[in-house]
Amino acid sequence: MPREDYEVVMGLEVHAELSTKTKIFCSCPTSFDAKPNTNVCPICMAMPGTLPVLNEKVVEYAVKAGLATNCEISRDSKNDRKNYFYPDTPRAYQISQYDKPLCEHGYIEIETSQGKKKIRITRIHIEDDAGKLNHDELSGGSLVDLNRAGVPLIEIVSEPDFRTIEEVDSYLKKLKSILEYIEVSDCKMQEGSFRADVNVSIRPKGSAKLGTRTEMKGMSSFRSITRAIEYEIGRQIDVIEKGGVIEQETLRWDEVSGKTFSMRDKEDAQDYRYFPEPDLVAIKLSEEYIENIRKSLPELPESRKQRYLEEYKLSEKDAGILTSSKYLSDLFEKASEICGNYKAVNNWIISDISRILNETEMDPIEIPFDAKQLAKLVTLIDKGTISSSIGKKVLEELFENPRDPEDIIKEKGWIQISDEGAIKEIVRKIIDANPQSVADYKGGKDRALGFLVGQAMKETKGKANPQMLNKMFAEELKK
Ligand code: ADP
Ligand code: ZN
Ligand code: MG
Repeated sequence: MPREDYEVVMGLEVHAELSTKTKIFCSCPTSFDAKPNTNVCPICMAMPGTLPVLNEKVVEYAVKAGLATNCEISRDSKNDRKNYFYPDTPRAYQISQYDKPLCEHGYIEIETSQGKKKIRITRIHIEDDAGKLNHDELSGGSLVDLNRAGVPLIEIVSEPDFRTIEEVDSYLKKLKSILEYIEVSDCKMQEGSFRADVNVSIRPKGSAKLGTRTEMKGMSSFRSITRAIEYEIGRQIDVIEKGGVIEQETLRWDEVSGKTFSMRDKEDAQDYRYFPEPDLVAIKLSEEYIENIRKSLPELPESRKQRYLEEYKLSEKDAGILTSSKYLSDLFEKASEICGNYKAVNNWIISDISRILNETEMDPIEIPFDAKQLAKLVTLIDKGTISSSIGKKVLEELFENPRDPEDIIKEKGWIQISDEGAIKEIVRKIIDANPQSVADYKGGKDRALGFLVGQAMKETKGKANPQMLNKMFAEELKK
């Protein structure tokens, strides 16, 4: 059967670490950079006889996430034990939620080149993260770090509603931005605080029955997710085309070889022997509690985008890029307020800053400079202290080693040449060196002027004031 006669079906389970100060069942800090096994106590190390106490902030954050994704919030929820043995989980069970999750039946609207689409959210539940194994190549062993054990997670499970990689990409970006806006998770993908399990299956187009899925766990980069899905779809089609069957299994994506490998057979719910967690009480939420959280929800990406269209008259596309990340749009608003030139700030963000973020695969939250520095860059150009081409170099410096743009240009000698005498001298020099272009210009070829200005810019390493250059060339060429 030809490739295009297969339909791809995907569903996502996203784990987001909540940015509460303390862990889910004890009062250890959740900080990421601490030395191994320093953010631990008898509870998160699972010493016998210790008892968990649920962190109320975790419930609040999960409810926030549920409300922001159009979920129904359960008034009567509970925790369950999910039993499995793994060396980084000292209790040998995870405290999760099984049949009564906090949030259910939500959806997120995504945008793709095919238009808008609703992706249904099956559930959002709370659970504890596992520790980490650090494999020590030198000694050949593995070292357990329990700092992450007990860091609160929400797991957001979608229905198998995805048909294209673009839909998956768009959903993950939207979900990430929503969680950032409501400030329940920092969503730092490189630190693993936003990671996805990607379930993939294929079936003949038109078939109502789902194919057998494979699951790629713990993916935490948009690029790897795209590559992994592409590879996995191709692999599944090949297996079926050769008369084989897809096994339900958990796969590991290997970034270097660009292939998926089998990790283990996929376990079913019964393998986990779920049962209600006897050491925790049920979670009963009042109407008032839920309403208060609903009222506290901040502006979400969709309405912020709407505001940008009306307030700043930005294009649909620009407003979309700015509001796709809370950090980007906060940067936009703060820098605009400081320098008073929102058009220029918008241009920097959607063109040069976005390009650098893309090229370096940097997340907006990692942008090293602040709104004040970006605003200063805009002001220096507006005042004519530097040209916009020097501005680009300043921006690169801001990414490399952020400091006051004024200091950067002084240090580098990048201040714009706006002295009339100096400009005249450069213009004469360029005219003398390019008789052919001068003749072309005088013969009516206006384009030759652009070439001459370009040469003058090159000569001054971009430091000449472009308006003055244009004016001076026009005058000199008239002679
Ligand atoms: P778990 O993987 O933990 O056992 P679930 O059974 O709830 O959890 O399913 C996990 C995810 O797999 C969900 O996001 C769901 O949409 C997706 N999924 C289920 N069946 C398929 C399928 N046949 N093809 C693709 N995705 C699927
Ligand atoms: Zn602890
Ligand atoms: Mg799963």
